[in-house]
Amino acid sequence: MSQAQDTETVQEDGVIESVSGPVVTATDLDARMNDVVYVGTEGLMGEVIEIEGNITTIQVYEETSGVGPGEPVENTGEPLSVDLGPGVLDAIYDGVQRPLDVLEEKMGTAFLDRGVDAPGIDFETEWEFTPTVDVGDTVEAGDVVGEVPETESITHKVMVPPDYEGGEIESIESGEFTVDEIIAELSSGESITMHQEWPVRQARPADTKETPTVPLVSGQRILDGLFPIAKGGTAAIPGPFGSGKTVTQHQLAKWADADIVVYVGCGERGNEMTEVIEDFPELEDPKTGKPLMSRTCLIANTSNMPVAARESCIYTGITIAEYFRDMGYDVALMADSTSRWAEAMREISSRLEEMPGEEGYPAYLAASLSEFYERAGKFQNINGTEGSVTAIGAVSPPGGDFSEPVTQNTLRIVKTFWALDADLAERRHFPSINWNESYSLYRQQLDPWFRDNVADDWPEVRQWAVDVLDEEDELQEIVQLVGKDALPEDQQLTLEVARYLREAWLQQNAFHDVDTYCEPKKTYRMLLAIRTFNDEAFDALEAGVPVEEIQDVDATPRLNRMNTSDEWNEFIDDLESDLEEQIRSLY
Ligand code: ADP
Repeated sequence: MSQAQDTETVQEDGVIESVSGPVVTATDLDARMNDVVYVGTEGLMGEVIEIEGNITTIQVYEETSGVGPGEPVENTGEPLSVDLGPGVLDAIYDGVQRPLDVLEEKMGTAFLDRGVDAPGIDFETEWEFTPTVDVGDTVEAGDVVGEVPETESITHKVMVPPDYEGGEIESIESGEFTVDEIIAELSSGESITMHQEWPVRQARPADTKETPTVPLVSGQRILDGLFPIAKGGTAAIPGPFGSGKTVTQHQLAKWADADIVVYVGCGERGNEMTEVIEDFPELEDPKTGKPLMSRTCLIANTSNMPVAARESCIYTGITIAEYFRDMGYDVALMADSTSRWAEAMREISSRLEEMPGEEGYPAYLAASLSEFYERAGKFQNINGTEGSVTAIGAVSPPGGDFSEPVTQNTLRIVKTFWALDADLAERRHFPSINWNESYSLYRQQLDPWFRDNVADDWPEVRQWAVDVLDEEDELQEIVQLVGKDALPEDQQLTLEVARYLREAWLQQNAFHDVDTYCEPKKTYRMLLAIRTFNDEAFDALEAGVPVEEIQDVDATPRLNRMNTSDEWNEFIDDLESDLEEQIRSLY
């Protein structure tokens, strides 16, 4: 996080008037909205959130106990910004982009002490810069002027900052540079370094937002198969505790075909975030074998960190995501969980004594949520490249009640809804995404991609599965009243097919070497095999074969092993021909 350390920009000091938790008021401070200020003698970092006459209200990103009236407040005159440049990947930050390892070194503990400041990127490290433009070339705002191998996986593109005028390149050199050394000079008098700052509450500019037409392939059958999300799309994963939000987010971070992952751990219980901080650096990118962190930026704000830092972490995350989008990358941002973020907003709002909205959340809850999700999208960047930010937010509604305001307001905005279900989790059906409640509004616009890249009849086969599952849902009500055996045989058979859809196709074990990732072609083939069973079985039923006999065919249990089969093409081919042969031999 940059807070303008150069003293020239520092304005006149104000004086603290009152302190209420993270909310501090000051008088006589010459400040604008969203300016970063240093509060009290310890210089705690805060942000101006309200100005009324001579009274300035500040939310402070650190614990304020012991800070009292009369102490000074110093204005930096700059908005809350992130430091952008090589070194953002592979980093673990707190909500205001202080690198946790640097803080830990300074304080000897992972828990924040006060008044400790650290820039978001290291100003000492030297990076190997290679220009991609020459002296005499003309560059505009956003244009790429060179590259840096940032990590094993990602080449960092050094861009002209979006707020530059641009001009002819007067000098540019390759070599080893720190992020604030000048690497290029322009005829406009502007000089370029590898370091940019950007105010977190302001979206980075783009040319146009386009309709996303390519899926973010996740390798998770229920997602790719039934509820796909687009690259540049938005999704919510609501679910009660223990229903699999974290596993789903981790699976996406590992497997989704995004170039970059920004993972915002926002105020989950301390020990869970510790897990993330410990787990992620250990994880391997399954596709490249390289460390997952080499294409990941982690923002870890646990609930024992001050509430205001939680409020800002989402913005820090999305700004970093937009920066990599500008380089032409597909970025997936995961926020776990937006409920804690909303709770932080609620707490600050109540300290400000604002008029509360539903369940005490501020009236602007919906606006803030949509402001965040609006920053997702597939974009034509100002430098002509295309990039995307996909935003996936976990929601943890108290008691799993989806009617509460955060879930409801999120639902109005996001286009994909993966509803986790406590009952399914209890029955150990994972991922416990409820197929009756979930939806994706991207299905249609992604169909052409699936037709071209997986199978021409993908949408039809999917629709068949959806219909069977719907029918099962209706039949279940009758089964609960009168029992399965009271149903006509064709309906019993439908239930059997639906059972295979659920158990053999929708269930997927995140912890199984093979099953953890299922490429879309395999997802499709597995579904076709179940449909082969369906078609053969109904033909046999029509020919007078009793339903139990069809169910008992030797090959059918193998449907449940398609998921873990490595050589799935061969396995499924064999299975299909055995099913055909064995069922046909019954009549
Ligand atoms: P939440 O974050 O919603 O509290 P978790 O993601 O921690 O829940 O999931 C709880 C447990 O459920 C996990 O520890 C794991 O045992 C099981 N689980 C969740 N999803 C899967 C999955 N896809 N495959 C296998 N097990 C899963």
